[in-house]
Amino acid sequence: MKPPPFEYLSVDSVQAATAALAAANGEGKLLAGGQSLMPMLNFRLLRPSVLIDINRIPDLAYLKDEGERIRIGALTRHRMIETSELVARQLPVLSEAMGHVAHLAIRNRGTIGGSLSHADPAAELPMMSMLLDAELELASAKRRRTLSASEFFVAALTTDLAEGEMLVSVSFPKMPPSAGWAFEEVARRSGDFALACVAICLERSGDRVSHVRIGMMGVGDTPMRATETEALLTSGRPLDDHLVAAAVGSIRASVEPNTDLHASADYRRHLVGVLAERAIRRAWSRATEARHG
Ligand SMILES: Cc1cc2nc3c(=O)[nH]c(=O)nc-3n(C[C@H](O)[C@H](O)[C@H](O)COP(=O)(O)OP(=O)(O)OC[C@H]3O[C@@H](n4cnc5c(N)ncnc54)[C@H](O)[C@@H]3O)c2cc1C
Repeated sequence: MKPPPFEYLSVDSVQAATAALAAANGEGKLLAGGQSLMPMLNFRLLRPSVLIDINRIPDLAYLKDEGERIRIGALTRHRMIETSELVARQLPVLSEAMGHVAHLAIRNRGTIGGSLSHADPAAELPMMSMLLDAELELASAKRRRTLSASEFFVAALTTDLAEGEMLVSVSFPKMPPSAGWAFEEVARRSGDFALACVAICLERSGDRVSHVRIGMMGVGDTPMRATETEALLTSGRPLDDHLVAAAVGSIRASVEPNTDLHASADYRRHLVGVLAERAIRRAWSRATEARHG
C-alpha cells in the first residue's frame, strides 16, 4: 500500500522542528529513520498532514562521554550505538542488546529517538532505557524538560511526549566496572521482535548480590523493571540455587503477559523465568570475573 497524501518539510534545527510541530496542531509527525513510521503510513494506521524530516539537523546524532554518563543524540542510528567502543566499554549490556534490534539494514537507518518515541513493547531500546535508568531530554517550542524512562513509557506505543514535543537526547549512567550483566532474549527468527527478553546488571559483595537491576519486555504493555525480584535478590541471602529458583518464581508471578498471534501468555510467562535464570547466572559469573580480573 502507499501512504495517504502528506506535506513534506525538511528542517535543519530542533527549534525549526518544534515550531513546525506546533504549527501542525497535532497533525504533524517527525520523520527520523522511517523504519516504523513508513510502515504505519503505508498501512494507513496514521494520517499526518505533514511529515517533518529531522535527518538534516546537524549535531543530533552523537555519542558523548559526560563523565558519569553517556549522552546519545536522538538521531543516532542503531548501528552507530552497536559499533561504538565507548558504549561497549561503559554500557556493555546495551552494546550486546543492539545486535538484537531488527536486521542490519534497519539498524543502519533506525534511530534511538525513533525507537523510544515509537515505544514498541517488544523493542530493545525502551527496555534498555528502563534497565539502565536513562533520562530523556524533551524539547518543545516553549520549554525543555527531562523525564526518567519510567515516566516516559505510558502504555504500548504511547509515551509522555506532549503535542509539539520531541526527544532530543538520552543519557545513561555508566555501569560500574565491577558490574556483571547479561542480555537474554528469544525471538522466532534472528532480527524479529522478541517474544520475551530479560536483561540484568548486578554487583556482588562476597556470595551476595549487593545491587541489581532487572529489565524485561514482551511480557506487558511497556518494558518493565522486575522490582520484586530485585528486592528478593538483594535481601541478604547468598546467591545459590535456592535463591535463583525463588527469583524465577518471583519474576513469573510478577508478569501479566498477553496472548497474541506469536505466543500465548503462559508460554511468555514460562519464557521469562527461563531467561531470568540464564541472565542471573551469566551476570553473576561476569561480576565474579570482573572482581578477580
Ligand atoms: C521489519 C522490522 C523489524 C524490526 N525489528 C525490531 C526489533 O527487533 N527491535 C526493535 O527494537 N526495533 C525493531 N524495528 C523497529 C526499528 O528499530 C525502528 O528503527 C524504530 O522503531 C524506529 O526508529 P526510526 O528512527 O526508524 O523512527 P521513525 O520510523 O522515523 O519514527 C517512529 C515514530 O517516532 C517518532 N519520532 C521519531 N523521532 C522522534 C524524536 N526525536 N522525537 C519524537 N518523536 C520521534 C515518529 O514521528 C514516529 O511516530 C523493526 C522494524 C522493522 C521494519
